[in-house]
Amino acid sequence: MSASETNGSPLKTHKQFCHESFERLKVRDDMRELLANPYRQVKVQIPIKDKNGNLRVFYGYRVQHNAVRGPYKGGVRFHPGANEDEVTMLAMNMTWKTALVNVPFGGAKGGILVDPKELTASELQSLARGYIEKIHLIIGPQRDILAPDVNTNEKTMAWMMDAYGKIHGYTPAIVTGKPVTLEGSLGRKEATGKGVAIIALEWLKQEGRTPADTSVVIQGFGNVGSFAAQFLHEAGCKIVGLSDVSGGRYDPKGLPVPELMKLAAEGGLLKDIKVGESLTNAQLLELPCNILIPAALEAAIHEENAPRIKAQWIIEAANSPITHTGYEILQQRKIPVMPDILCNAGGVIVSYFEWTQNLQSYRWTLEQVYKELDRTLLTAYRLVVERANKYQITYKQASMDLAVERVVDTTNYRMY
Ligand code: GLU
Repeated sequence: MSASETNGSPLKTHKQFCHESFERLKVRDDMRELLANPYRQVKVQIPIKDKNGNLRVFYGYRVQHNAVRGPYKGGVRFHPGANEDEVTMLAMNMTWKTALVNVPFGGAKGGILVDPKELTASELQSLARGYIEKIHLIIGPQRDILAPDVNTNEKTMAWMMDAYGKIHGYTPAIVTGKPVTLEGSLGRKEATGKGVAIIALEWLKQEGRTPADTSVVIQGFGNVGSFAAQFLHEAGCKIVGLSDVSGGRYDPKGLPVPELMKLAAEGGLLKDIKVGESLTNAQLLELPCNILIPAALEAAIHEENAPRIKAQWIIEAANSPITHTGYEILQQRKIPVMPDILCNAGGVIVSYFEWTQNLQSYRWTLEQVYKELDRTLLTAYRLVVERANKYQITYKQASMDLAVERVVDTTNYRMY
């Protein structure tokens, strides 16, 4: 990946996509200023005592982009790459995501600059609690609601809920993605990956293809990639390539997904399991397949590897996995892309269900969660396809336009 595309560029990439949408929709200049920038960016210092009793100082961010359609909403990641630009881009992406799938939230994101592999469980707990102690005044169940993201999970959410509760009283609706035994929602854990599969299967149906004759490559075997693999495998797709941080595995006859899921759940890495051929993450992205699903980090597909991508279609499961230049190359090569704000919205959709359950102290069945997830995602999918066909634009453009239009309309009602 070229330096120009990695250094702080996810925000630049994102703003380019926004700008193009503003142009298509002829958004007024004052509105552009409002939408292209966040409402609030907070950087906090989080000192913790490490296992030897020494002080270690970390830095965390919370960026609140837009709350015109409802409280700020978005995950918190623990990652060495977390910085103000990245978190801002991710916060903006949440605004468009919640607008596109029409859940009553705005967009926010959080991040702590840390490599969680270097910390013990109790140090991670101190970090999660310290973060909440520093930002508790700007969040709240009607103000800004947190959730898991890269390297955070239901355990992290439980610590965060507990830390918030110690200051404000028992408030389960302050975070979503909690353990089910702690007011979490059934179906939330697998929701993002399930959503990716729902979109992929609907797209196949639309194009008159069957899962049985579809090969899939997934980059990333974390919460999103692993459940996407599981649901697509169960639907009959052949998962031919998978990768995690340690590298990838390829078998044109299909990988044993349930076995690999078990391995990942036990904390194992794909490099340690001898199935198929081993390959690097970079090689994996260039495998021949029907559907390629980047489900790891930003900017996985960029100007250098986009010309070599051999997939027929791409489903963006990570947030912003394709740079602007990479995307233009794919368009020239006629490789259609289903965008992140639709494909990975399953997580925030079920977060919305969790939040409503918490506010009402009422629990939904798994069946109800899945049914509503399906309905919410497929409604958005159909609007995207309809708009793309009507205006002869790409799915990514149609998604952005639908989202921006909704945010602009609501702003007009509230501010003019
Ligand atoms: N971190 C997830 C995302 O990027 C989920 C956010 C949420 O549930 O609030 O969409």
